[in-house]
Amino acid sequence: MNNKQDKCEILIIGAGIIGLAIGAELSRKGREVIVLESENKTIQHASSHNSEVIHSGIYYKNDSLKAKFCVEGNALLYEYCTKHGIDYRRSGKFIVANNDQELSAIEKLQLNAKENEIEDTRILSNKELLTLEPNLIAEYALLIESTGIIDSHSFALSLEAEIENNGNHIITSSPVTSGRYNGNEWELTIHGDNSYIIRSDIVINASGFNSIDLAKKFGVENLPQITYIKGHYYKYHGKNPFNRLIYPLPEEHGLGVHTSSDMENSLRFGPDAEVVSKIDYRFDSSKERFSKFTDSIGKYFKGFDSNLLKEDFCGIRSRIGATHKSSDFSVLFQRDHDLEGFVNISGIESPGLTSSLSIAKYVAEDL
Ligand SMILES: Cc1cc2nc3c(=O)[nH]c(=O)nc-3n(C[C@H](O)[C@H](O)[C@H](O)COP(=O)(O)OP(=O)(O)OC[C@H]3O[C@@H](n4cnc5c(N)ncnc54)[C@H](O)[C@@H]3O)c2cc1C
Repeated sequence: MNNKQDKCEILIIGAGIIGLAIGAELSRKGREVIVLESENKTIQHASSHNSEVIHSGIYYKNDSLKAKFCVEGNALLYEYCTKHGIDYRRSGKFIVANNDQELSAIEKLQLNAKENEIEDTRILSNKELLTLEPNLIAEYALLIESTGIIDSHSFALSLEAEIENNGNHIITSSPVTSGRYNGNEWELTIHGDNSYIIRSDIVINASGFNSIDLAKKFGVENLPQITYIKGHYYKYHGKNPFNRLIYPLPEEHGLGVHTSSDMENSLRFGPDAEVVSKIDYRFDSSKERFSKFTDSIGKYFKGFDSNLLKEDFCGIRSRIGATHKSSDFSVLFQRDHDLEGFVNISGIESPGLTSSLSIAKYVAEDL
């Protein structure tokens, strides 16, 4: 055991996109930061197993943190990508409706979008849709112009570079196992390849799926329950026939099996959504799962060939709250839990990637 003793102003636990965005924001402001990551590389969990969609914020209740951070984060992310040369595509998105009930559901989403001050939405009927997306099966669709996709790996690398170029550090293979406030400063115990204690004035817990368990070890009480939602993705080994992202109506645990794409314009479908008890990224190759995907995709993709659909990867979100609609992000400061200099961030499921720069701004303004 290596008994290093060190001190810095701010320790961030977790080098996912949230920890990195906060680290970069604080670094820009000249604060002294160390990001501690348990894995031997950054972004090994939710931040590298997602759809890479820059969401608009249309789904979330107006008074929620999700709405606040997603709407602001969307604009900040496009701005950041332009400034730092990160690949992105402002593709736009359609949410499809095929009967009166579904039409009324997309009308409600449009109203919610207006409440969240998202003005770039429009409901299109079949005739207009066919000219824009000839391979789409839909009677109606809600168009959201401000949705896009991002090269999230380049985004993470850019945040890392900002942290390091400002003289700060990201230390991998450093799982934080506990922490205590000694009346003057925080002492965090790291038990990894190296074991040591590191001290700081401020601790920001951005450890994703671990954040609730870890916060309890730091002494935060009355924390909500966290639920893990696993999603599978299939890749389509054929041409992407869509110009925009295509979504069905949202479901209980997620946004429905939708299309996503990357900078090479390949086509992927997912994620589905299933409550699980542990972090396990293995792909479930059951026929039932495959059929659920092909049924869902076949409803909106004209000419869909299920033989071209191949297993891709899984991602797991950490949710607070029973359903996608009712859940919200949690960002707690000292005023919320009474622990000196401790910020706890949890439940950052989708749209966490989109929201990352806004969450970072919000946290940094309070410190
Ligand atoms: C299937 C799926 C699809 C999604 N699609 C989108 C999308 O299209 N658009 C969007 O905006 N958002 C999307 N999201 C949400 C987005 O990916 C997450 O909100 C975001 O990645 C969360 O980042 P994070 O940093 O909180 O968590 P993570 O990326 O999980 O990072 C937490 C980090 O903490 C580390 N850690 C854990 N415990 C410790 C410890 N004890 N000590 C040190 N380090 C520790 C972990 O190793 C990890 O690196 C999706 C998520 C999933 C799972």
